[in-house]
Amino acid sequence: MSGFVAFTHPREAPVVSARAVPAPGPGEVLVRLEACGAGAADFGFFQLDALPRTPLIPGFEAVGVVEATGGGTGVAIGTRVGLTPLASVCGGCGLCERGLERWCPKAVLHGWHRDGFLAQHAVTTDRAVVPLGDGDDASQWAPLFASGWTAMGAVRAAGVGQGGRLGVIGVGGLGHLVVQVASAQGLAVAAWDVDADRRALAGEAACPEPFPMESVDALIVCTPSTQAIQQALRAVRRGGTLVLAAASPSVRFDLSLFDTVMRGVTLAPAFLGTRSDLTELISLARAGVVRPRVTRRRFADLPGAFWALRDGGFTGRLVFNP
Ligand SMILES: [Zn+2]
Repeated sequence: MSGFVAFTHPREAPVVSARAVPAPGPGEVLVRLEACGAGAADFGFFQLDALPRTPLIPGFEAVGVVEATGGGTGVAIGTRVGLTPLASVCGGCGLCERGLERWCPKAVLHGWHRDGFLAQHAVTTDRAVVPLGDGDDASQWAPLFASGWTAMGAVRAAGVGQGGRLGVIGVGGLGHLVVQVASAQGLAVAAWDVDADRRALAGEAACPEPFPMESVDALIVCTPSTQAIQQALRAVRRGGTLVLAAASPSVRFDLSLFDTVMRGVTLAPAFLGTRSDLTELISLARAGVVRPRVTRRRFADLPGAFWALRDGGFTGRLVFNP
């Protein structure tokens, strides 16, 4: 049998359950999971009145070892892999052709359209796996494959040139990676968070001489908070860019139409990045420039650990080990 975590009813905490080990079909691989990150997007399903599917196994980012293949894949059994949420796309639409496959209308995402990675085993596709080395720490690497990748996409979406100033609001599992990625790209970056411990998490990579939020060229909002988004719109300079990098299925926001238009603010979404962004991110991680900070929990710690996604009290990204 194989354990998994799933939402089974709207507005009820996820439960730990077990099933037969799933079998990979043609073009698929079976991965024995070692670590899976969890964040606000996973918690957001709890707040929906209707789940997109039941049971819904959450989990967008993981590391594991390929245990079986259904044939027709380029991945050998025994390979340690990172798993991204992007299981498949159409490959032929305008978005796919422009390298924006993550927004393909036919995109199938783990943790949403099909089973996610908060499980002992997952079946996925060639497209979702990234070969890693045997020595890579599973828990520390897991957050790279959705949060880290989104951090790359967010910094790119901000469009700040060399020497420009970038601001980050929210220094959680995603935000601290945005700070690291932006700093690695030579940008001056400052970060804000209501929590002192999380502000400290940004400290190592943030600009030693903080600057006011009102002076940045772009702000990246890394917390799915209506108030944070509204604050960012008020603060971002005229002609600046406001990047929305934290997605939650249950959060809505409203902004002043007049402020947005008359101050020339560009709103930009960030969700994952391009394939070359992912390659570059892995190089940065290998060089030790990007290093996810994680807090480890076991499945047995659920559902208590689940409430930490709402209440905080942990550092960096929450990572579950089966
Ligand atoms: Zn497409």
